[in-house]
Amino acid sequence: MQSANYFSHYRGRFAPSPTGPLHAGSLVAALASWLDARAHRGQWLVRIEDVDAPRSVPGADRLILSQLAACGLHADAPHVWQSARTPLYQAALDRLVAGALAYPCGCSRKDIENATTADVPRPRHAELRYPGTCRTGLHGKAARAWRLRTAGAAMRWHDRASGPQEQDVEAVVGDFVLLRADGCFAYQLAVVVDDADQGISHVVRGADLLDNTARQIWLQNCLQLPTPQHLHTPVVLGANGEKLSKQNGAQAIDTSEPLQALNQAAAALGLPAQSGGVEQALPVWTQAWADAWRRPEQQLRAT
Ligand code: GLU
Repeated sequence: MQSANYFSHYRGRFAPSPTGPLHAGSLVAALASWLDARAHRGQWLVRIEDVDAPRSVPGADRLILSQLAACGLHADAPHVWQSARTPLYQAALDRLVAGALAYPCGCSRKDIENATTADVPRPRHAELRYPGTCRTGLHGKAARAWRLRTAGAAMRWHDRASGPQEQDVEAVVGDFVLLRADGCFAYQLAVVVDDADQGISHVVRGADLLDNTARQIWLQNCLQLPTPQHLHTPVVLGANGEKLSKQNGAQAIDTSEPLQALNQAAAALGLPAQSGGVEQALPVWTQAWADAWRRPEQQLRAT
């Protein structure tokens, strides 16, 4: 169900995984999603995406929330934690299984690697393309994971910053995991269920997640959930030219100087530097954002 007009009200979110503190790259996504919500006079929520328990770092959630507060980015509703929402993910999986859209898979990672020839670098949340081995049954193997059927998932969608996008999910990703072999629900399922449950009308996040969007829209279609609008912000590169991420050791933002951290994030979004305080800067940027996005086909300018 593609449904640009389904939502009567703007609701956005920032959805950090608590794998470490906020760094310069994640602050860009946080600021952009906050500004977009404010510019639309909408609501902005924060969801802690700790569905991937093994990767979650104890205390990182509280640290991220305190960093956001120090930057003046306050949510309009109580924060939610994915770890408390497992029954919602299970109910969605049950619906997909009942509709024969999901099936159990007995393949180990090694099995998939052995059946896969291409060895291409993979972006965040990417998986090896699944060759469909268990589509027709487990062939005597024990079930390890559950996968979503992707036959017919040639997706086209529009990104507010990057324009028209397309991905044939079956060809690029294959039937992807919904419930992992270690018992964790997959990011793709959790994010789709939560966005729908929370009434998220607009997803604003880093361009490193662009590659996940086709999978998520397909999953929304399979679950008959509305599809939000998407805007993927420029990825922030470190001095070494590599993407800043917790995985490659990006520094936590310094919340003793929140305006400095925000100015750096604002620059990545093409917004002018501000002096004074956070409380003065945020309304100026909100107005600049609203003016910029009022113009059709406005592109984000990465600096
Ligand atoms: N939790 C995800 C991540 O940090 C982001 C999810 C999203 O914004 O859709 O990779």
